[in-house]
Amino acid sequence: MFRIDLLPFWIYLLIGMFSLVLIIPIYVRRRVPGSGYLAMHILSLAIWTIAVALETASTNQAAKILFNKVSYIGFANIVPFLLIFLLLYFGKLNQPLPRKIILLWLLPVFVILAAWTNEWHALVWPGFGAIDSQTNFMVYEHGPFFWVGIIYIYLLMFFILFFMWDQWHHSSHRTYRWQSMLILVGGVFPMATGTFYLSNINPVLGMDWTPIGSFFSLVFITVAIYAFRFMDAVPVAREIVLSNMQDGVLVLGVDQQVLDWNAAFRNLFPFLTLRIGIPAAEILTQLKLPAYLFHHESRAVRFEVELEAPHLGIFEVCLNVIWQGERFSGWLLIFHVVTQERLVTRALKNANQHLQERLVEIEGLQIKLKEQAIRDPLTGLFNRRYFSETLERELAQAVRTQSPLSLLMIDIDNFKLVNDQLGHVSGDDVLKRLGDILSFNTRKGDVACRFGGEEFMVLLVGAKVDQARDRALNIQEVFADACRNDPDLGMPVTMSVGISSFPEASDSGELIRRVDQALYAAKRAGRDKIVIWEDGLAK
Ligand code: GH3
Ligand code: MG
Ligand code: MG
Repeated sequence: MFRIDLLPFWIYLLIGMFSLVLIIPIYVRRRVPGSGYLAMHILSLAIWTIAVALETASTNQAAKILFNKVSYIGFANIVPFLLIFLLLYFGKLNQPLPRKIILLWLLPVFVILAAWTNEWHALVWPGFGAIDSQTNFMVYEHGPFFWVGIIYIYLLMFFILFFMWDQWHHSSHRTYRWQSMLILVGGVFPMATGTFYLSNINPVLGMDWTPIGSFFSLVFITVAIYAFRFMDAVPVAREIVLSNMQDGVLVLGVDQQVLDWNAAFRNLFPFLTLRIGIPAAEILTQLKLPAYLFHHESRAVRFEVELEAPHLGIFEVCLNVIWQGERFSGWLLIFHVVTQERLVTRALKNANQHLQERLVEIEGLQIKLKEQAIRDPLTGLFNRRYFSETLERELAQAVRTQSPLSLLMIDIDNFKLVNDQLGHVSGDDVLKRLGDILSFNTRKGDVACRFGGEEFMVLLVGAKVDQARDRALNIQEVFADACRNDPDLGMPVTMSVGISSFPEASDSGELIRRVDQALYAAKRAGRDKIVIWEDGLAK
């Protein structure tokens, strides 16, 4: 027999039914971590509440006890399932669950079995009161096994409340904090109503208020988890990814207020004072981020910042504008540390530059060395080696093009006297002066060199014998004038010149031999002379 005129019966029944309805949104968002366990939690709650409803409506003791036993199947499972769901949802546990989680059911199963076998030991309910004719409630006496179950459930609930408080306290995310706070507040209801039922101040004797409290708790949980659209973004994954990221992440709201940051960000910039809601301007200046970057139009902007204090840090910053559909909703900044890379690159660049400088230096030295190898250090004219190479080359060219080429050999007359009377240094000065005159009076393409001692060669490319003589005369005059006008010299210095030329002679050996002979002839003729080679000179 059932009595359906009782208000508590309907309350319990409705709560049970409505709990079942709450499984629907959970099914819709079944991707939420742990949602299966939340469904089990609700199912347990529904079993319990509906069984309590039927127990309330039953009119005889045996039926009441039977429904109460059924209600235990639901009751004992409610809190363990809730605990597992919360641990999964807040990322403290991962699927697949560890095997030892089954230990959570050790006491619940024991209490269920004890309830079903109460006839043999009476340790759950030692006795039963009479059924109240008005309320139809029957008071159960409570034995030690009952209290074991209750204490266990209370301990689990305390643990859940503490866990939620801890989440609320430590989470940096606003939504996350809201959720833990709602679940925390919701969790107080079943504990309060349960205590109410078990205490002596219960106004309706035998009526269990706990299903009502539990239902409130369930509503809070459902609102917390499912009313915040945030859920769809899978907060736990977000939290895990963000907190394990090496890159620092900072989220700013529409008004440039600080909304969120991850552990890496905090570690990268420990000197920043971070609080949710504070204006970002202060932080941004400390991070050397110019305010003009923060406008809506921009897409992802990448730039680099370098902080010298408190220690050197170079960051590649990626600034993203967050759009939710058409709606602008803030900025996301990602800080990637590139200090090491940049320092290495810089060191490499420096080394490279240094190397480049050295290379230029070496190249200069090489040019100088090359120059030195072909120059006579005293006069600056080409040396004998260079003269020989050039003579061969120019002669070959002259032969090829059948164009003339002449050779002057110059020897200073009585140079020993200069040295003897004025000293070696003055002798060197005379040599230098002749060097200057030769380089000044030779044309482009002509080659003047010091052949050795006080002997000089001038190769006149394209010059016939007559032109060569004119040039020799000119050189002779200029040199003699220069010496005459030199007050330090105090004595006239002259030169003798021999001339040979192509096509009269057509190989270099012959040209040199002839010019030498011509010079010798000039000396013999009394010095300060110009002699052109001709047959019979050498005799
Ligand atoms: P000649 O008219 O016959 O040529 O008489 P000379 O005195 O010039 O005779 P000779 O060619 O034999 O002597 C050349 C002298 O030039 C010998 C050497 O002391 C001098 N001499 C050679 N090289 C240098 C030099 O670099 N500096 C100086 N100051 N004297 C040099
Ligand atoms: Mg000589
Ligand atoms: Mg001489």
